[in-house]
Amino acid sequence: MSAPSPSVAARVPACKPEPFGGLAAGGSKASPHPQPSPASGRGRTSGSFARVLGREGWGEGSPSRRLAIRGDLLDFSAAPAWGDVESTAVRFRPDHWLLIEDGRIAGAQPDAPDASWVRQDHGGRLILPGFIDTHVHMPQLDVIASYGTELLDWLNTYTFPAETRYADPAHAQAGATLFVDALLAHGTTAAVVFATSHTTSVDAVFEAARAHGMRIVTGKVLQDRHSPDGLRDDVLQAERDCIDLIDRWHGVDRLAYAVTVRFAPTSTPEQLAMAGALCRADASLYMQTHVAENRAEVAWARELFPQARSYLDIYARAGLLHPRSVLAHCIWIDDADRAALHAAGAQIAHSPSSNLFLGSGLFDWRAAAASGVAVSLATDVGGGTSLSMLRTMADAYKVQAMAGQRLTAWCALHAATLGAAQALGLTDEIGSLNAGCSADVCIWDWAAGPVAQRRMQVARSLHERAFAWMLLADDRNLVATYVAGDLRHRRDAKE
Ligand SMILES: [Zn+2]
Repeated sequence: MSAPSPSVAARVPACKPEPFGGLAAGGSKASPHPQPSPASGRGRTSGSFARVLGREGWGEGSPSRRLAIRGDLLDFSAAPAWGDVESTAVRFRPDHWLLIEDGRIAGAQPDAPDASWVRQDHGGRLILPGFIDTHVHMPQLDVIASYGTELLDWLNTYTFPAETRYADPAHAQAGATLFVDALLAHGTTAAVVFATSHTTSVDAVFEAARAHGMRIVTGKVLQDRHSPDGLRDDVLQAERDCIDLIDRWHGVDRLAYAVTVRFAPTSTPEQLAMAGALCRADASLYMQTHVAENRAEVAWARELFPQARSYLDIYARAGLLHPRSVLAHCIWIDDADRAALHAAGAQIAHSPSSNLFLGSGLFDWRAAAASGVAVSLATDVGGGTSLSMLRTMADAYKVQAMAGQRLTAWCALHAATLGAAQALGLTDEIGSLNAGCSADVCIWDWAAGPVAQRRMQVARSLHERAFAWMLLADDRNLVATYVAGDLRHRRDAKE
C-alpha cells in the first residue's frame, strides 16, 4: 500500500463525490503477514487481563474445567413474534446454576452442583448469552462521536483519514487490542467486523480476537475507487490479499473471513465481480457491506450502476447476496429488495444509533419482519456512538416508536443473541445457553443505582422488568464476561 496521504479530507463533495486523484494503489505490500500463533485462544493471557484470570475463572491448577454460575438465566428457544410481550420463545430460568464444562455449556439446574464444580454465586443477577454485534468498524474508535456531518461527508472528513493510519502494523495492533477489550467490556462476545483495506488491520483484528478466544468474522475492506491514496486498492492486489488472508485465517479457531465490500460506490464493477467470485469459490465465506443507508448515497450508487434495478440489486448482480451475507442498514429499500434478501437468506444488520446520529433515516423493522428477512442488531461504531448493544436496543426501540411501532424487549434481545446466531449459521456455537454451545456468557446486575433499583422493584411482569433493564442498563451493569468459559472481563478488576 502507498504511504498514508497527509490530506484526504474535503476532496469529495457530500452529494456527488468525484474520484480521488493520485496514483492507483497496487504496489508491493508492506505488511509482514505474521502467522497465527500456534497457541489456542483458550487460556492465553495478555495485558491487564492476566491478573484477572489469576483470581477467578478456572484458576491456576484447578482440578477440573467445571464451572457453575448461579443467577437468573435468560435466553430464547425460538424467535418471538412481533409485539408479543408474553412470548413462549423466552426461556427464563430464575435462580439456576449454569453448568460449564471444558468451555462449553453442559446444562442448567436449580440445585447447586457438587464440589467437583468451581462455583460462582451471582444469585439475583441476570445471566445472558454474550451479545453478537453484526456490524462494527474496528478502526473507527478514533472517530466515534465526530460532529456535524452526514454519511458521505463523514467518511471523507473523519473516517478515511483515520483508517489510512491502519497501514502501520503497530497502530493496527494497538487499535485492535483496544477494540476487542472494549467489546468484552460491553458484553459483546462475537462480532462481524470491518477492518480497513490494509491486510495489517485484518491480521491485527484476528490476532486480538484469537488471543481472547472470540468468535469474530472480519475481512479486508475492498475499495478501488472514490477513495484516498493510502486506502484505495486495486482488483488484482485486493484479490491476492483476500486469498492470502482467507488461507491464513478462515476457519482457524473461532475466526472466519468475510469478503468485505465497503459499499458499491467505492468499488468498480470489476472489483464487485471479483468479490462475487470469491464468494462463489467458497460458500463458507461471509460477505459484508453497506446498502441504502443515506439518500445521497443511494442516489450516487444508482447513478454509478444505472443498469441495476436498485442499490441492493448491484450486489445481487455481482453474486454477493447469499445466506452468509450481512447487509448493514437497508433503510431505503423496497418490497422487491426485501423479497430478494429473503430469497437469498441474507440478513440485515440494523444500526439504529448510527442511523440517528448521522441522520440517515428510520429503518422499517416491521416490514423486514413481515417479509421474513432476518434482522440482527449492530452498533456500527464509529457512525454509532456506543459499543453497547443495550444502547443500540434502546435506540432501536425509539426508531420503531417514531414509526408508531413497538419493539418488545424480546425481539430486541433475540436479535442481539439467538437471532444473530441463526442468521450467521452459528446456533450450535453462540447466541443461547443451550447445552453444547460455547460458554460465551455475561453476568449483569438487574439494576445500577437507586432509580433503576426502584424501577425494578415496581415492575409487574418479566417483560416489564427486561424492558426497563434494556433501557436503563449500560456497561456499569456488566459484572463479568466469559468467553468459552474463560473470564475475559470483570467489572471490579479495574482497581
Ligand atoms: Zn458501517
